[in-house]
Amino acid sequence: MKVLKFGGSSVASPENIIKIKDIISRYDDRTIIVVSAFGGVTDDLIAAGKLAENQDDSYKKILEKIEIRHLAAIKALLPIEEQSKVLSSVKKELNVLETLLDGAFSIGELTHKLSDKIVSYGELLSSFIISEYLISQGINCAYKDSRDLIITTNRNDRTTVNTEKTTANCRAYFGDSTHEVIVCPGFISKSENGDATTLGRGGSDYTAALYAAAIDAEILEIWTDVSGMYTANPKMVKQAKPIAHISYEEAMELSHFGAKVLYPPTIQPVLSKGISIRIKNTFLPEAEGTLITKSKNEKGKTVRGISHISNMALLSLEGPGMVGIPGISKQFFEVLSQANISVVLITQASSEHSICIGISADDVSKAVAIVNEAFAFQIGRGRIKPVIPETNLAIVALVGDNMKNHQGLSGKMFSTLGRNNVNIRVIAQGASEKNISCVIEEKDVKKALNALHEEFFEENIKQLNLFVMGVGNVGAKFLNQVRQQKKYLKENLKLNIRVIGISNSRTMVFNENGISLKNWETELSNGEQANKSTFFDTVNTLNYRNSIFVDNTASDEVAGTYDMYLGNSISVVTCNKIACSSEYENYSHLKELARTYNAPFLFETNVGAGLPIIDTLKHLIVSGDKILKIQAVLSGSLNFVFNNFNDTTTFHDIVKQAQEEGYTEPDPKIDLSGVDVMRKILILARESGYRLEISDIKNESFLPQESLNTDNNEDFFTSLKKHEADFQKMYNEAATKGAKLKYVAQFEDGKASVGLQQIPKGHDFYNLEGSDNIVLFYTERYPDQPMIIKGAGAGADVTASGIFADIIRIGNF
Ligand code: ADP
Ligand code: ASP
Ligand code: MG
Repeated sequence: MKVLKFGGSSVASPENIIKIKDIISRYDDRTIIVVSAFGGVTDDLIAAGKLAENQDDSYKKILEKIEIRHLAAIKALLPIEEQSKVLSSVKKELNVLETLLDGAFSIGELTHKLSDKIVSYGELLSSFIISEYLISQGINCAYKDSRDLIITTNRNDRTTVNTEKTTANCRAYFGDSTHEVIVCPGFISKSENGDATTLGRGGSDYTAALYAAAIDAEILEIWTDVSGMYTANPKMVKQAKPIAHISYEEAMELSHFGAKVLYPPTIQPVLSKGISIRIKNTFLPEAEGTLITKSKNEKGKTVRGISHISNMALLSLEGPGMVGIPGISKQFFEVLSQANISVVLITQASSEHSICIGISADDVSKAVAIVNEAFAFQIGRGRIKPVIPETNLAIVALVGDNMKNHQGLSGKMFSTLGRNNVNIRVIAQGASEKNISCVIEEKDVKKALNALHEEFFEENIKQLNLFVMGVGNVGAKFLNQVRQQKKYLKENLKLNIRVIGISNSRTMVFNENGISLKNWETELSNGEQANKSTFFDTVNTLNYRNSIFVDNTASDEVAGTYDMYLGNSISVVTCNKIACSSEYENYSHLKELARTYNAPFLFETNVGAGLPIIDTLKHLIVSGDKILKIQAVLSGSLNFVFNNFNDTTTFHDIVKQAQEEGYTEPDPKIDLSGVDVMRKILILARESGYRLEISDIKNESFLPQESLNTDNNEDFFTSLKKHEADFQKMYNEAATKGAKLKYVAQFEDGKASVGLQQIPKGHDFYNLEGSDNIVLFYTERYPDQPMIIKGAGAGADVTASGIFADIIRIGNF
């Protein structure tokens, strides 16, 4: 058997009640249906009772409203021929209700007993109407008054359920019943003397749990107006999400701290029987909802939910007479307990000088009076101060079984609140360490819940939107690296990289959902005709936060568009050296735009490909160091060439190989002539704070003038062939001295030069392998032993990874 409970909003209107029928119809098993009063009716009945007690006859208006609502429901739900019988029964009940209210009105008094009797009508009427409706729909349904089953005991003015009697009654009744569906009112019960009693506001959940436990139900389903128990009250925190699976203890803690979706006493009866609870949404039955079981929550999760209780007050008891005197706190709690005031939170200073407790603000005046009375003797002698109440407060609590195993959660909680200007009055950590709670001002509740929710539940994933121009060697490798790292970056760095635009020299493509990094080649070839200014216009119009323009070309035209991107707050990452080695005016203008528009302009790969040369230089300078001298081998291409060229090879073939393996610029003369190295040392000099132009750099080229004069790759290579003897001579001169040829860049005293040098054995540069680069930074802090950065300084893969690193720098910006 299953027990299903439908709450106030689930039965608030005839349309909703029809939804319930649809839900029940999907079940094959026998079910007990527990229903609440029509949404709002309990509040109306309480209000009517209070008015009557105050001899205000407007209770009649409320009564009238209640009557209209119930009669209308009968008319809407039942076929005409079946209405009159139900209408007359309901009217009869309403007459009794009226008599009760009239009684309270005439004597101006509302006893607890009478009040319980009056509020029971909400559930009595709703359950009766719903059962009649289900019967009229051909369902094999019976109605059973819960007052015949749930028996309460009254102790110290506190109503508790007599579980033994209740269980026996339930087993006898439900065991004998042959009906498919049995509808029962929630919330209401009967005392051992036969008086009407209730189980407390929200108590229908408890009714259902008592039935489930008594009959060992297969499951208890709580059908309500939200899709489960959420990470926070969804009415306060829009981003809250249903928790798929939660333990009994966690659910209990959340409900205890205000998650109204489940009435706190509900869990105990089913917990002891190991019956699962599922919270479901009447208005979205297909939603999974929340499963509450004994088993622990999903591994590794610490904070499972955040809840809050409004309308709280603090009572502080303090004074010198409390120190070291046993029994004061015991007495404090006893007095409150006897007055039926429940204590939600306790903190005690280790000095024992004060105890502070949280109670409902409704109980404050009563609590102050009884506590002061109980401690009158000590107060009179100045040993204890009169109790200090504070109101307009609320409790917010983080809840989770695993919290005890994790340090730093409370620190995170308090710093989050602090950052958001939420003042914390009191902090308490439950002894079970399943919750950390604090008392804040009521006015800050929404802000606090949202800030905490963001901190503990929302993945603050930063979206980086890339617009990539150039998908040759480097660009293609780069896209491939992004594809491989995407998941890692999202999970570990909370960076979500989306490539929205790609262009090569022929076509361009945009996709706001992100271009597939598997299929980008097809998407690109099907794209529109490439156009640099349309590309910029599109990026600018899409106007995404964190847009990054990535230039993987060597084009001066593309470099000429950076100012538009930066000037519109679009970051630029580039391996293209042209902009940074153009006129100083242009370089510094771009840097200025980047600062003004808060758009990073990063070009780490301009020097040493993926090696962190520029970044290191920047760090040295911002931390107050000063560059005295830079010595470097900065051309991976030239290094490759001179490391492989010897008397068994030809210079031409080695340069060709370097070009084919992607170690040179598309135009290899740029490397061989030393222009590329000039650009690099220029950029380093500029980044070191010097205003230098390319024309200031001394370059004694080793290339014959004829090779320098060529204007295409073919002629260039032919000229290399022709001058092979010159190259062999250069090699032999060095080799006979035991030296190696290296193309060295130097910057010192504000002057830069580049040129081929014979490097003797033992020099830092001598053993530079393959296409490696090396940079020696001599600075004020490193005057004799330079800071050295060395490693692969050319190649599409390392260049792509340098671009990637710049993008991640922007992500972490
Ligand atoms: P019912 O009338 O069905 O018993 P309640 O109003 O008692 O429904 O409980 C459902 C309400 O509980 C939700 O509408 C929501 O506003 C509130 N609530 C508070 N905290 C939570 C939470 N953590 N998860 C889900 N609902 C919550
Ligand atoms: N009708 C009662 C209330 O409003 C009980 C319930 O709905 O659970 O508190
Ligand atoms: Mg409820």
